[in-house]
Amino acid sequence: MKILSDFSFSELKSCLANLPQFRAKQIFDAIIQGKDYNETTLPKSLIEQLKNEYILKPVEIYKTLTSKDGTKKYLLKLFDNNIVECVFLKQNYGNTICLSSQVGCKMGCKFCASTLNGCVRNLSTGEMLSTIAVVNADNGKCNERNFSNIVVMGSGEPFDNYENVVKWLELITDKNGFNVSERNISISTCGLVDKIYEFAKLNYNITLCLSLHATTDETRKTIMPIANRYNIQQTLDALKFYVEQNNRRVVFEYCLIKDVNNSKQDILRLKDLTKDLKCHVNVICLNPNGGSLKATTRAEAVAFVKELNKIGVSATLRRSQGSDIEGACGMLRAKHLN
Ligand code: SAH
Repeated sequence: MKILSDFSFSELKSCLANLPQFRAKQIFDAIIQGKDYNETTLPKSLIEQLKNEYILKPVEIYKTLTSKDGTKKYLLKLFDNNIVECVFLKQNYGNTICLSSQVGCKMGCKFCASTLNGCVRNLSTGEMLSTIAVVNADNGKCNERNFSNIVVMGSGEPFDNYENVVKWLELITDKNGFNVSERNISISTCGLVDKIYEFAKLNYNITLCLSLHATTDETRKTIMPIANRYNIQQTLDALKFYVEQNNRRVVFEYCLIKDVNNSKQDILRLKDLTKDLKCHVNVICLNPNGGSLKATTRAEAVAFVKELNKIGVSATLRRSQGSDIEGACGMLRAKHLN
């Protein structure tokens, strides 16, 4: 079976070349609106024919949790019964969808729940597109765009699913579809350096985020296995190349973990690491996932950011949304699997 949302609009037109031209547009619209066959106005006979070969809606809402702050967390069921998460964040400046790129993750970061059961498989381009479509439709009219930003910060390592993610970028920014501005898309990586270089050369105007989470290689290795493959300097060099290519500010994510990465020296080293780069530091309070790592208090996080600002580092504390509904990466799915 093929998934129709894996195809770009022009691919769809050639793949359905034996049908009248307007059918491709009709099917493309159905994909964007998150519809399944029975919700379209396609003729019954055509539906029967297409159904034998193609899946129209590969993603379905399995469960929704709504936080007191309006954040909605979704468990989505894929056509093969795998489960992924997606988050819809209500914000004053436009809503944000947090998208997963894999079922699970194999990167092994200690603080992250997504990786607890390893990586089951990549999401296809169409599954990622349909995730956006289904969640969009659940938050307003299905033929309007009910969000402005997308962050690829859900479960999975997007650069470990590089080709599908790049094609998804092409589809999500397509004028015929969601037409999301590149500037409103962020992709977060734990730092697959070779892929950062490859991606930089594509000249997308998107915001690249790096999960840094430590200021020395030694500490980073204790919480992020990727640090054994690429050191911080190699990673920074790749980011520098990204900034040169695209003139976009990069974002560092820095999840504060008590007694691991929250010292005075960390503040000074963060200044040193970021000084030659057009960048911003996003400090995050750890959402403990049951392991040995402990969170700092909110007040300690505020003080950490204040110190950074004082010595000239552009940094903010990320507002924590949806923590009452297993808000952090992979937590809801991990709970579901248990
Ligand atoms: N694999 C990619 C994208 C997924 S994780 C990457 O590593 O960047 C994206 C972000 O989720 C991390 O940088 C971290 O900021 C956040 N995150 C994951 N687990 C968390 C936790 N337990 N508490 C707080 N933030 C977490």
